[in-house]
Amino acid sequence: MIPRLLNVEYKPAWQSILAQAVKSTDELLRLLEIDPASPGILPLARDFPLRVPRGYISRMAKGDINDPLLRQVLPLQDEMQEGNGYLPDPLDEQHSMQVPGLLQKYKGRALLTTTGACAVHCRYCFRRNFPYNEANPATDNWEQTINWIKQNPDIKEIILSGGDPLSLTDSRLQTLSDRLGELPHLHTLRIHTRLPIVLPERIDDGFLSWVGSQKQHIVMVVHCNHPHEIDASVSKAMIRLKHAGVTLLNQSVLLRGINDTAATLIRLSETLFSAGVLPYYLHQLDRVRGAAHFEVSDTTAIGLMEEVRAALPGYLVPRLVRELPGEPGKTELPGRNS
Ligand SMILES: *Cc1c(COP(=O)(O)O)cnc(C)c1O
Ligand code: SF4
Repeated sequence: MIPRLLNVEYKPAWQSILAQAVKSTDELLRLLEIDPASPGILPLARDFPLRVPRGYISRMAKGDINDPLLRQVLPLQDEMQEGNGYLPDPLDEQHSMQVPGLLQKYKGRALLTTTGACAVHCRYCFRRNFPYNEANPATDNWEQTINWIKQNPDIKEIILSGGDPLSLTDSRLQTLSDRLGELPHLHTLRIHTRLPIVLPERIDDGFLSWVGSQKQHIVMVVHCNHPHEIDASVSKAMIRLKHAGVTLLNQSVLLRGINDTAATLIRLSETLFSAGVLPYYLHQLDRVRGAAHFEVSDTTAIGLMEEVRAALPGYLVPRLVRELPGEPGKTELPGRNS
């Protein structure tokens, strides 16, 4: 007789680790030996709740409320400030949507929001107010998405975004990539993800075998803002991806009090490079409501980049960019006229 146990659905380890993420400010601060009654903390962030994987917390310093990793995830009363020009949808993305979940703003590439879920909730996130439930393209087995791409043969690259596309299971990724595989003009599948940084267990044998079965070139753009985010587990995940033939790039957001010194940005590039990742973009913050306290001025940002450029080889210097609605690509700073 077959034991009933074999009927239990197999769940990879990363899914349990994801489910065990810390979701309460109190618990997070207790783990870090910080007084939850410290001034400035927002105990309940209702619209965009706290969420942090435990492995990421283990890279934070104990007792330091200004730890650069903690500051990215800890809800502060500063979020309640009304910043001038800070809006719910600063990029006006709702108007660039071609079919539900598919954004095309730039030539030759389109961005697909595959899920609203993320492993971590970053307080500065420009999608914190995004209506993911209305924009779920998976509901019709991607039919509208695939049809749109078929009718637009100039699209060579699809960018899987979110939320975080790697919070999808391997089988859901497979369903999507099977459908994208029907499109001969698609050369590249790009994945924008923070999971390999905050939950490197996601890069397991199952995911790597999915990578190995893809026809298209796989580019992965991870999202890491500070050198302390890269520990041995992250480096190991990156090296495995690299051996699987994935092109690895990083994008960061320039954040006040977190990575707004030249020394930190230089160390970030060097640490990424040791893990096999090249810096791609350093983003000026999108002006989303609740994130005004993270802003670094353009003048300061441009000055920082001069120092970074003077200290590093060109291939370790990210491009400082800002996203502006209506432009044909990201806008590089300083602009052509300055
Ligand atoms: C950022 C972005 C891209 C990618 O731009 P690259 O310069 O190719 O990295 C594509 N589509 C949308 C909607 C974007 O916001
Ligand atoms: S992982 Fe990316 S999409 Fe998710 S909250 Fe952080 S910045 Fe936003």
